[in-house]
Amino acid sequence: MRNEPFSKDNQHIMQNMDFDEDVDYVVLGGGLAGLSLAISLHQKGARVCLFERSKEPNDKPCGEGLMPPGVQALETLGLSSCLANIEPTRLQGIRYIHGQTIATGHFGLEPAYAIRRIKFDKALRQKAHAIQLPIFWGRARFIKQTSEHIYVSNHQSCVRGRFLFACDGLHSQTRQQVLSKEKKKKRARLAQRFGMRCHLPTESIPKHLQNNYVQIWLADEYELYMTPGKEETGCAILLEQDRLKHEGSPDIQVDRILKETLGFEPAALTSKLKTTGALEQPHTPAAIGRVFFVGDAAGYVDALTGEGMSLALGDVQDLIDIFMTAANTYSPEQCATNYHQRRKARQATHQIFTKTLLKVKRHPRLMSHVVQTLARHPTQFDQLISLSHEPLSIKHLKALSFGLNLLRPIKSHQE
Ligand SMILES: Cc1cc2nc3c(=O)[nH]c(=O)nc-3n(C[C@H](O)[C@H](O)[C@H](O)COP(=O)(O)OP(=O)(O)OC[C@H]3O[C@@H](n4cnc5c(N)ncnc54)[C@H](O)[C@@H]3O)c2cc1C
Repeated sequence: MRNEPFSKDNQHIMQNMDFDEDVDYVVLGGGLAGLSLAISLHQKGARVCLFERSKEPNDKPCGEGLMPPGVQALETLGLSSCLANIEPTRLQGIRYIHGQTIATGHFGLEPAYAIRRIKFDKALRQKAHAIQLPIFWGRARFIKQTSEHIYVSNHQSCVRGRFLFACDGLHSQTRQQVLSKEKKKKRARLAQRFGMRCHLPTESIPKHLQNNYVQIWLADEYELYMTPGKEETGCAILLEQDRLKHEGSPDIQVDRILKETLGFEPAALTSKLKTTGALEQPHTPAAIGRVFFVGDAAGYVDALTGEGMSLALGDVQDLIDIFMTAANTYSPEQCATNYHQRRKARQATHQIFTKTLLKVKRHPRLMSHVVQTLARHPTQFDQLISLSHEPLSIKHLKALSFGLNLLRPIKSHQE
């Protein structure tokens, strides 16, 4: 890992386009998306370097459920060993709980895992270290792009590359830098939902709540996700900003929500409570010139469906396909169009599903109808879940028609 001195300040770099390192690909942000992309590019022989602001792995606020498409993507990228090394808990499915109603859906044969995010991040960093991926530590800034190159620098070094992959997360500075003013204005009008995350000792969880499902309590004002783990059980709470303002500090709210929802006095938390948001972030074009947006940095709808990691890994897979097979024959514009189209197709179902669920959430009676119907039709619930990770088949068309029927009351409610 490197961190070479660089005496010139950013102003100087911008004027003279001086640089310390010349690579093909610069990856900005070493979270799940950035690390897996940089490792994969490096292993395929590309000249790549990574900028990451934090030397210590970040215990990122996350529900920690890695869904089947994410597991499949890691396998394709050759990164399954990072997962195996952290001994994840295999998940059987998802359980929605609304009042007394419980609807259970299964992942089927495709594996999904509960992972401790900080352990996974560490495993990816170890892999990067083992393959001697060049990493520049410290907060980085995308400086400029010309017709041929991009420039990125931190407080010490400046790197020139042919392409920049912006993997700098939900509040991506790169996105802020390149977004037009109109898009920034739009952002201010978006609904403000937030996420909180903590862990409880698993031994403190009552036995009837210990199982291998992601359990999701759908209360009127929030959703509580409980993700199993051998030693620690993850709790993620999603709620609107207003709740956060009016009901005291996040610690007080989390304590109240856990007590109220789980029906027992929670033990002392085993991880620091973390809060993040606003969750909804505008979607940029997938690429602008030589800057490609990856994972959360490309825009985000909500954590409601627990698919962020899978979507980020899907982006990485697409970029590896595009750049490692076709970069020499495609122009930057063709690479951008290709990435944009693949991303749009891959994320369409997810976006419709998440936005619809957010609508349903605003109407408690509809929420109740949806959970009760899913509880009565477990096979169709399983099929709806498999839409995310199985090739489309007749059973999925039936599942889609079931899903549309399920949502019919929303339409009549709106009329
Ligand atoms: C409450 C909550 C629950 C969630 N639950 C789930 C779930 O159960 N399952 C799921 O799949 N997804 C879940 N998600 C979503 C998931 O966590 C994200 O989609 C995923 O982490 C995206 O990864 P990323 O690499 O794009 O971003 P990140 O993991 O945020 O990585 C960004 C990286 O960029 C670095 N960085 C940022 N700026 C700079 C800079 N200027 N210079 C250098 N480095 C920089 C950061 O240090 C960080 O390492 C949840 C999210 C929330 C908020």
